[in-house]
Amino acid sequence: MDAEALVSKLRARISDERVLAAVRSVPREHFVAPEQAASAYDDAPLPIGNGQTISQPTVVARMCELLELAGTDRVLDVGTGSGYHAAVLSRLCAHVWGVERDRRLARHAARALAAAGIDNVTVIAGDGALGLPEEAPFDAINVAATARRAVPSALEEQLALGGRLVAPVARGDDERLVLVCRRAKGLERRALEPVRFVPLR
Ligand code: SAH
Repeated sequence: MDAEALVSKLRARISDERVLAAVRSVPREHFVAPEQAASAYDDAPLPIGNGQTISQPTVVARMCELLELAGTDRVLDVGTGSGYHAAVLSRLCAHVWGVERDRRLARHAARALAAAGIDNVTVIAGDGALGLPEEAPFDAINVAATARRAVPSALEEQLALGGRLVAPVARGDDERLVLVCRRAKGLERRALEPVRFVPLR
């Protein structure tokens, strides 16, 4: 598959043309291991080392769509991994701060983003469950590793008024995307479709 074939496949589930254009514009081959280059545009998760995976494009696109990003938004990406999801987010907003716990992956992600010509993502090595208080509040927060029971409260606290957060949350064996919106009257949480992510550690 190439980027065009991938986007055609995504159309079955994703209707936001801005998100489809963002996926089309990100060279995924920069974010996969060299031995996976031939599979770079498959709609599949791929290994990126240390037992972690680059997320499946359908899931990346769906999460971007749920965040309803505006070009002026400041976005936090937790569990940046390969940097691919951050790269797609970066096409839809003003700036992305990516936090990745694994220092080696964080270094790789920063390099891959630079090689892909993306200059509005800052990658930070650290514990993303704590958010990034020095840059908060965020218009949108994307979480790519599964929290147990609930979204970490530090992340919800760093949402701006009107801000949106999407995260996989597991309750027992039931793992789903949860969408959180901060409204004037408080936080609104909605559980959506089942997903499978690596755990937030
Ligand atoms: N968004 C990534 C997917 C990476 S998989 C991509 O597009 O490639 C999830 C990532 O979350 C892994 O790299 C893992 O190291 C990271 N992670 C797990 N717990 C974390 C935490 N508490 N803080 C930051 N990163 C974390």
